[in-house]
Amino acid sequence: MPSLLATAAAATVEIGGIVALALPEGATGVRYQNDDALVVAGHAVVGVPLDAAPGRRSVTVATAAGERVLEFTVLAKQYPERHVTVSQRHVDPSPDDLERYRREAAVQRAAYALRTETRNDLVPFERPAAGPASSPFGARSFFNGKPRSPHAGLDIAAATGTPVRAPAPGVVAVTGHYFFNGKTVIIDHGGGLVTMYCHLSRVDVAKGDEVDRGHILGAVGKTGRASGAHLHWTVKVRGVTVDPAQFMAVFNTLDGEDGEDG
Ligand SMILES: [Zn+2]
Repeated sequence: MPSLLATAAAATVEIGGIVALALPEGATGVRYQNDDALVVAGHAVVGVPLDAAPGRRSVTVATAAGERVLEFTVLAKQYPERHVTVSQRHVDPSPDDLERYRREAAVQRAAYALRTETRNDLVPFERPAAGPASSPFGARSFFNGKPRSPHAGLDIAAATGTPVRAPAPGVVAVTGHYFFNGKTVIIDHGGGLVTMYCHLSRVDVAKGDEVDRGHILGAVGKTGRASGAHLHWTVKVRGVTVDPAQFMAVFNTLDGEDGEDG
């Protein structure tokens, strides 16, 4: 029916991606699903989780002239399967390993929940390591033949020792050596934008360090649940895990400086 198509929101995003919606002049409060939205370079940046249902969504914006509603449409996407062979300990963890994992997961959740002040120097996001993508985000994952959670990041294939760099400025929120993620760094970029780097051979930063774009965080390795040397990179937008590749494709179209026209 043409009338329905005509009213459908023009902006679209696949599950696991982000959408950037231009804000009207003088926008103040920007809300999405009972939370403040991340605002970068005059745009609301919203992440859509892998398990989101397709359909219409809206961001609500407060302006001096009243409330505005910005609509967008979530589209389904089929992600591929991946089959990985790792040590059996990382497929059937012992009770002690599981207890360790639960403690570590709580630390990571706390970092993802950080909502520090939004910065104005986040664009562009640069690729954190040189190398080809080896395992895409969202892949339905089987470890030693057993189904596990979908792949929550992007893997970049690189040799052990390859530098891992901050894609944008931020503060080191967490460093650790974890059961599944191996040696790990989490960066808080502000505004609820948080990124994680896993399986490192070496960590070169400490909690609380301020890092600029390109700052070396550590080096690629294969610690934790890894079949070989690679960087696992996770991007969280206000708690929502999104595809780093789709994130960069959209995010890096935004203007780098707030308030600058065109
Ligand atoms: Zn990975």
